[in-house]
Amino acid sequence: MDHFLYRDGALFAEDVPVSEIAAAVGTPFYVYSTATLLRHFQLFDDALDGTDHLVCYAMKAASNQAILKTLAQAGAGMDVVSGGEYLRAKAAGVSGDKIVFSGVGKTADEIRAALTGGIRQFNVESEPEMEVINAVALELGTVAPITVRVNPDVDAKTHAKIATGKSENKFGIPIARASEVYAHAASLPGLEVIGIDVHIGSQLTELEPFELAYTKVAELTEQLRAEGHNIRRLDLGGGLGIPYTRSNDAPPLPMEYGALIKKTLGHLGCEIEIEPGRLIAGNAGLMVSKVIYVKSGEGRDFLIVDGAMNDLIRPAMYEAHHDIVAVQEPAAGVEQQAYDIVGPVCESGDTFAKQRNMPPLKSGDLIAFRSAGAYGAVMASEYNTRPLIPEVLVNGDQFAVIRERPSFDEIINRDTIPSWL
Ligand SMILES: *Cc1c(COP(=O)(O)O)cnc(C)c1O
Repeated sequence: MDHFLYRDGALFAEDVPVSEIAAAVGTPFYVYSTATLLRHFQLFDDALDGTDHLVCYAMKAASNQAILKTLAQAGAGMDVVSGGEYLRAKAAGVSGDKIVFSGVGKTADEIRAALTGGIRQFNVESEPEMEVINAVALELGTVAPITVRVNPDVDAKTHAKIATGKSENKFGIPIARASEVYAHAASLPGLEVIGIDVHIGSQLTELEPFELAYTKVAELTEQLRAEGHNIRRLDLGGGLGIPYTRSNDAPPLPMEYGALIKKTLGHLGCEIEIEPGRLIAGNAGLMVSKVIYVKSGEGRDFLIVDGAMNDLIRPAMYEAHHDIVAVQEPAAGVEQQAYDIVGPVCESGDTFAKQRNMPPLKSGDLIAFRSAGAYGAVMASEYNTRPLIPEVLVNGDQFAVIRERPSFDEIINRDTIPSWL
């Protein structure tokens, strides 16, 4: 469920007409709904009700300061995957003891920044990284709380580029080696081993892979405890999928996911952390774009719109589907027409949809890409010297620009010319 609905023939973001935002900020732009963000966070928080838990928003999904602040004020922790994200979370007012640091390639500088500024835990992904965290902690005269990310060798049944829990993926340590790796971690004086971490992939549409992974984590918890480790926190990653279309089978609900967590791990008495990203932000955002031209091709019509692959890369990168709707609601019974919906970038990959049925559209009409809140703005680039598009946050009947569109001068002046030119 989200808060982007038609009212009297016009698409609204909560209580604001999308066309009003377009008139104020220009197209293309991203718009997020505060109510949807908060609702999705609350669903996870409620799903783990009765357990000691923290929902750490995986901020790589959408990391604007205003989004982070909205969620942090509701009680969310943050899952960060870089030093930059760590600083962003801190700048949004999140305290270090609610920030979890994930990622396969944390550098000594990033580790130092997090240990200095405060961190809930590092999710360690390899033995070399473990050595560096230990060394930095000793250098700072502190002890780093860690979990080890285990790779359970489970097929997440999702797109290959976002599956992370098979043994051939770069993530975590093989679960079969956990015993040895934990023994080594326990011997390092700069580390305090507090738990286990697992994250098997993104956009999972079934519970079964989670069940397989969490069952393995439960067994490992008992085994490591028997080996003398005080395992008291389980970080279960993110990955629960969202419905990208209105028609197909919906993925499991957070409540069902929470019930699975309690069933597989509840008896262990551990503190539970989860790291949802996509489910919190995905359906909380639209990308709004304008039709530039309608071009008749050989046997097909193209809608050439002012948004492009550099603004929303998911279709080009993951063959992802986004529902696309007209901002002006089509009249009842209007005959649909098939279009290829494309951006202006000079690549055939800059195609959002092929032969998509839409109401008849003309130059100047607004369209909205649904489910664009996660892995949208954060993955944008300025390819083709197209400025990063603005982000807008709606809250009830108010809206605010939360990131401005840069001017062309700002973009061009970022380059510097060497003295010999
Ligand atoms: C990307 C990522 C997540 C979030 O995944 P979603 O599918 O967006 O929920 C959580 N944890 C880790 C370690 C990640 O890399």
